[in-house]
Amino acid sequence: MKKNIDLNCDTNKVFDYIIIGNSAAGLSAVSAIRLLDKNGTIAVLTNEKFPNYSKPLITYYLAGKVKAENLYFKSEDFYMENKVFLKLNTNVGKIDFAGKEIIADKGLRFKYKKLLMTNGGKPIIPGIEVLAANNFSAGFESENKGKNYSEIKNKIIKMLDNENFREICGIFTFTCLDDAERIKAYIIKNNIKEAVILGGGLIGLKSAEALLEIGIKIKIIELSDRILSATFDKQASLIIENELEAKGSKIYTQNTINKIFIKDNKLEAIKLKNGEKINSKLLIVAVGVMPDLSIIKNSEAWIKDKDGKHIKYGKGIIVDEHMQTNIQDVYAAGDVTESFDFITGSKVNIAVWPLAVRQGEVAGINMAGGSKIYNGGYFMNSIEILQIPSISIGITNPSGNIEGDIEIIKEYKPERKFYKKIIISDKKIIGIILVGNIDRAGIYGGLIKNKVDISNIKENLIKEDFGIIQLPSDYKKHLVVGDGIEV
Ligand SMILES: Cc1cc2nc3c(=O)[nH]c(=O)nc-3n(C[C@H](O)[C@H](O)[C@H](O)COP(=O)(O)OP(=O)(O)OC[C@H]3O[C@@H](n4cnc5c(N)ncnc54)[C@H](O)[C@@H]3O)c2cc1C
Repeated sequence: MKKNIDLNCDTNKVFDYIIIGNSAAGLSAVSAIRLLDKNGTIAVLTNEKFPNYSKPLITYYLAGKVKAENLYFKSEDFYMENKVFLKLNTNVGKIDFAGKEIIADKGLRFKYKKLLMTNGGKPIIPGIEVLAANNFSAGFESENKGKNYSEIKNKIIKMLDNENFREICGIFTFTCLDDAERIKAYIIKNNIKEAVILGGGLIGLKSAEALLEIGIKIKIIELSDRILSATFDKQASLIIENELEAKGSKIYTQNTINKIFIKDNKLEAIKLKNGEKINSKLLIVAVGVMPDLSIIKNSEAWIKDKDGKHIKYGKGIIVDEHMQTNIQDVYAAGDVTESFDFITGSKVNIAVWPLAVRQGEVAGINMAGGSKIYNGGYFMNSIEILQIPSISIGITNPSGNIEGDIEIIKEYKPERKFYKKIIISDKKIIGIILVGNIDRAGIYGGLIKNKVDISNIKENLIKEDFGIIQLPSDYKKHLVVGDGIEV
């Protein structure tokens, strides 16, 4: 993959379209715009140095299974062919919505007629106390017994935050290619054999998957009572936990990191909530990702649109079914948004690649004068760890906010590392967990997406050989002519 392809363009001109973000949602929007508008000027701005790459593949890059040049999902020619002015290494700081102007670092300004924000999510960094390593080895606890917090506070170098964690050698997040490159280089340089991962959610497990693949022993620290708690239930988590532990990994549940010890700005050790101390030179912080609202918040106190409105946001940027924000000519798509959950009917942030692509497409069509509606999406993710594939789709841990009776069908065969859980509400499947065999995931996904009445095939759903043949005949017809199966 070639780096630094900045296509020349006069930045004083007003672009017909500016897209912040050069990833799933942004580039899908480019293709959609070009379906309707062949000549309008498009600029794509990104603060990354890479032309584009698939985020889900950074796990396999770190694991050494995919080379850097195979990570991209759009070729270099894509930008030329679509007449896109791509501006790499350009961090957008603020937006003047009234003046329709973007203000980036180094004083760069870009004017737009229509704007699409696809600037994704950012990792959450918990505020953990960072202390000098000598406090760790000298027995910080016994030394400070009975002292009040202000005395101990003198020994705290800093509280970890989003800005300063990168200053400590050995602490990383794992949400972009730059992270993967830096972790890879650090492992090689420091001959790392063991690592601690804070967070047993999807990103934590994705990094675990990569590290295990290259022979690094891991310790996972998870606040809840099980790993993958947002998408798995206890039985599903247990299959993966048992396998991880059987292969030498250690999992600490209902625990977290209370203190980090550093020496010469390098990570030396961590201390857990339960008092246990772990020497470690590599810590991956993976406690979650949230929509990156920093551009919006930086612009907030500064300027509003011409009607005095500010862009609306909750956990993410709020958009309508056209992916338009409350500000005219400003759209948002992908991980930065709160959008429609097809199953619950609520507005949520569902940070998955296929939805970012679909939302970008809808935004692009509407920006270019067409009309397309986003019908909503649902959560789905797949992960393969220690050769155990798994997938979770939709609502897998139903709670009180689901209307109607909930019925759950399960099959659990831990000795075969196999688990299937189907969640049904109002005669329709609303969620599924598959562990060990994910071959039929597309069929279940299709049933969820198309809200198929499964009353007549309920007893077949759980069978291991469940397949197209057992589907309702009306729906089967739809599969032949339509797009029923898609995950
Ligand atoms: C390790 C990992 C594994 C994943 N695995 C899967 C998976 O298996 N399946 C799945 O469906 N999803 C997976 N995801 C989630 C998926 O990658 C995201 O949902 C998807 O990338 C979202 O696309 P996006 O275009 O909305 O945002 P992003 O891909 O996050 O892209 C945001 C873009 O905005 C740019 N940007 C951000 N801020 C600024 C700024 N201030 N100025 C300029 N540019 C800016 C960034 O540089 C980037 O180009 C994974 C994510 C990670 C991190």
